Amino acid sequence: MIKTPVYMDYHATTPVDKRVLDAMMPFFTEHFGNAASLQHRLGWIAKEAVEIARKKIAKAINAQPREIIFTSGATESNNLAIKGVAHLLRSKGNHIITTQIEHKCVLESCKTLEAEGFRISILPIDQFGKVNANDVKNAITDSTILISVMFANNEIGTVQPIAEIGKLCEEKGIVFHTDATQAVGRIPIDVEAMNIHLLSFASHKMYGPKGVGALYIRSKNPRTAIEPQINGAGHEHGLRSGTLNVAGIVGFGTAVQIAMDEMEEENIRLFHLRNRLQEKILKIENSSLNGHPTERLPNNLNITLHGINSDQLMTEMNDVAVSAGSACTSEEIGDMQYSHVLHAIGLNEESGRSTIRFGLGRFTSEEEVDYVAERINSVRSKLRTFSSLGVV
Ligand SMILES: *Cc1c(COP(=O)(O)O)cnc(C)c1O
Repeated sequence: MIKTPVYMDYHATTPVDKRVLDAMMPFFTEHFGNAASLQHRLGWIAKEAVEIARKKIAKAINAQPREIIFTSGATESNNLAIKGVAHLLRSKGNHIITTQIEHKCVLESCKTLEAEGFRISILPIDQFGKVNANDVKNAITDSTILISVMFANNEIGTVQPIAEIGKLCEEKGIVFHTDATQAVGRIPIDVEAMNIHLLSFASHKMYGPKGVGALYIRSKNPRTAIEPQINGAGHEHGLRSGTLNVAGIVGFGTAVQIAMDEMEEENIRLFHLRNRLQEKILKIENSSLNGHPTERLPNNLNITLHGINSDQLMTEMNDVAVSAGSACTSEEIGDMQYSHVLHAIGLNEESGRSTIRFGLGRFTSEEEVDYVAERINSVRSKLRTFSSLGVV
């Protein structure tokens, strides 16, 4: 028997790996010291654990430990990177380039800056969700101070030409930020080879705890500076004050290490499972794949079932946890919006509302894949019968 609900929403968050939890536990009750209390042993133990985690996290993206700043998650890292650069370089220029398919926290940060007088260029993407590096190049002006392009999209999984854009930024001397929340621990990242200056990510997307994230800030060639957005006692080189979430950071470090050690093996497994699910679901009539056919996260599947309302489908299918194209971005039920990402790849509202995102992960089994495919198919035919009878 399969355990329900079957979880296939790994882009939203992931369960904490048991090995991560085990590593965290002593830091709640036994080693509970403040990592900034350097006058006694409890503080030293906490500080040492934080620095070990920082080293593991830095290594995963080929950075130096001092280039990693801990935050509360990717939302905070993105806010800190974008507003931090904009506010510091205000006298140098006021133009920022980003794309249509960024996470809301990037787009909303840019919107706030726009109200402060910055000029934002939001680049379109192609039908597969990919930004063209040439478009980025053509958008650059003398006043461009920052380019922010996500590494891999959280809805359709498309992976962007990050190395190409990085090279461009290097040549033009423009700060390059990437939101790599879906990519770290899933696909190889090298901040040196890819010329990345700032990179955001979060622990809870890679089997670590929620509420902890990081921002990579390049320290040389060129040194990248930002203005802090939270002021206080000067933690994290003064760039992000506040007592460190020691247990969370220890868990984050362990989660990154496991993800890196097991990435290759896990990706092969996920790739096969995802393709198995894809094949089964695309057999359903009037279904189509969203996102890039090949340059896509191995655990992502985003499908439109034309003529079916995905919210209705999910209500009927409460033993499967997936996500709809009308992803609720806030906790208010009335605020269901058709996804800006699906809109950007050219889906109209009706298609957008007929779309389902599947996110596979470490604990997804072949049995679960087959179960979900079967459930989708049977609920879909039920809904179709209803609608042909005029019931819905
Ligand atoms: C989940 C996610 C975020 C937000 O991360 P939080 O840690 O929840 O703040 C930002 N960007 C992308 C691409 C994400 O997938």
